[in-house]
Amino acid sequence: MINLQDLDEDQRIAASAPRGPVCILAGAGTGKTRTITYRIAHLIDQGFVSPNRVLAVTFTSRAAGEMRHRLNLMGIGGVQARTFHAAARKQLLYFWPQVAGNLPWRLLDNKFQLVGRAVRGARLESQTEKVRDILGEIEWAKASLITPEQYPDRLGTRTPPAPAEKIAEVYQRYENMKATPEGMLLDFDDLLLHTAGALENSPAVAEEFRQQYRSFVVDEYQDVTPLQQRVLDAWLGDRDDLTVVGDANQTIYSFTGATPEYLLNFSRKYPEATVVKLQRDYRSTPQVTALANTVIGQARGRVAGTRLELQGMRIAGPEPEFSAFDDEPTEAREVAGRILTLLKNGVQASEIAVLYRINAQSAVFEQALADAGIVYQVRGGEGFFTRPEIRQALSQLIRTSQRDVDESDLVRLTQRTLVPLGLSSEEPSGAQERERWQSLNALVDLVKDLVKATPDLDLTGLLLKLRERQEAKHPPTVEGVTLASLHAAKGLEWDAVFLVGLVDSTLPISHAIKSGDEAIEEERRLFYVGVTRAREHLHCSWALARQEGGRKSRKRSRFLDGIVVEMASESGTPRSNRPKNCRVCGSVLSSPAEKAVGRCASCPIQADERVFEQLRTWRNDTAKRENKAAYMVFSNATL
Ligand code: ATP
Ligand code: MG
Repeated sequence: MINLQDLDEDQRIAASAPRGPVCILAGAGTGKTRTITYRIAHLIDQGFVSPNRVLAVTFTSRAAGEMRHRLNLMGIGGVQARTFHAAARKQLLYFWPQVAGNLPWRLLDNKFQLVGRAVRGARLESQTEKVRDILGEIEWAKASLITPEQYPDRLGTRTPPAPAEKIAEVYQRYENMKATPEGMLLDFDDLLLHTAGALENSPAVAEEFRQQYRSFVVDEYQDVTPLQQRVLDAWLGDRDDLTVVGDANQTIYSFTGATPEYLLNFSRKYPEATVVKLQRDYRSTPQVTALANTVIGQARGRVAGTRLELQGMRIAGPEPEFSAFDDEPTEAREVAGRILTLLKNGVQASEIAVLYRINAQSAVFEQALADAGIVYQVRGGEGFFTRPEIRQALSQLIRTSQRDVDESDLVRLTQRTLVPLGLSSEEPSGAQERERWQSLNALVDLVKDLVKATPDLDLTGLLLKLRERQEAKHPPTVEGVTLASLHAAKGLEWDAVFLVGLVDSTLPISHAIKSGDEAIEEERRLFYVGVTRAREHLHCSWALARQEGGRKSRKRSRFLDGIVVEMASESGTPRSNRPKNCRVCGSVLSSPAEKAVGRCASCPIQADERVFEQLRTWRNDTAKRENKAAYMVFSNATL
């Protein structure tokens, strides 16, 4: 029995609305996904539709599995919950003979290679990262329903990775190459294009399909592409049994062609639609919710007009914390330390996540977690050592002659190994290039750390150490702490969330800063998505240098302006490593004396030798006002 009492009043209106168009426009954690799951269950329970006539579309296959699971728990089986691609693939398998006879087709499994050939055919440079960027461009065009001929005129404000005419040529060549004498090769976007085409062009196919599916539900509708919308329109025909839910403030896939326009214009398209706005946030504490409201309150531009204040429904929890660290390894170690404390306090490992902007950032955190003996898993994106550029770099290193290499040469050797893979001293500008560059740099840093930690390390020793790191991976059956990019964290939630690497040019990412306001706003929404993943504990951190002892040239993310009080530690002055928060209780430090020791006056300092030494220094130099104050405060502290 479906109990709509498990929903609040507004959610119930959406879940129990009669058949026809329904739209839920609401912020993060307000129960959108929960409400559509109940709506499906309710429609079935009331006999309005049978389970196998419902098609629910989710953003990831994991979310689809979760929805089926939740429905099963409510006693409902047989609902089709899939991603757009999975649904289209299944339909195409069925309808293909009707529209294409016995022309064979199969899914393209070497897209990258094929685009690489097309790039060479068009006489463009074909380094890995160039091919990747052009492939990304072709994917964007296809998702935006832009043909090769239209491409040069439809770029808008986009900066193409090669001359537009050349990209159009590669795109056309790639399309031609998929028609082989053995049959058709279809990429993921073709699955959607052909599905829409079959329904649009064959009345018999459309008729049969619409007999089968009656009710459609789409989650995360703010990130639908024109191509996906075309499929949805083809599924519906002239019917309107469609429920969509989304949050324009969580639009984070514009770079793939996704747009919140369909969500925002839903009630114009369906004037009779039931439109529900939800504001009560059931996921997060009021402290987290307040921060989320502040972050999105600073948003500018078109989507900003759709803002809804979240209202935290849970009991109060800890304040979100903000910490600056001297360098990334220190940041990672500190995060690992805090995770250990949470685990000790009974928080489950599977209820903790470390979220970052780009996958290359995971390496330093993977290392710190492994060092601390914390079980973790990397979601979305591959683990650091399985990335193609890292595998390539390691195999180059293995092939290197092992003679005459001593520890001091290792770092240089690694750097040299990486040069043919595209590692230069300058940070590149394309998104893919930058990520690759950063992960290769992370490998150099890792080698530096290993060399520092192990005297007399030779090349064999280094490779063994790197292998140990790889094998420190934990069996996939064990659920550990999640490491994920902000993009991969969409729709999910954890008790404790660590948002790491919050520096300008990582969040917002440098290419967004270059391309302008709209791109920066998308980065801000990404930050909002990150903040709203936390149920209770939220820790935001950043590091002023990449390497230990490195130059502190980084600046805290601009999205924290006005949220974190300005601190001396970022001005690059001699006080540069003074902490802003108490290392014990996390409260904001106000006096220079407190900042000097990194503790507030109410937290006793430990009686270790360092403290005595510090006290002696202050006492010997009380001519400085700051020192005098520090001595007076802390000589009374519990020793
Ligand atoms: P997002 O925008 O991040 O996808 P959402 O709006 O889809 O969020 P849900 O994931 O559906 O939100 O819900 C967030 C959390 O709040 C879940 O743990 C859900 O079970 C809980 N929740 C939602 N509605 C209620 C309710 N009425 N009573 C109790 N808990 C609720
Ligand atoms: Mg959701």
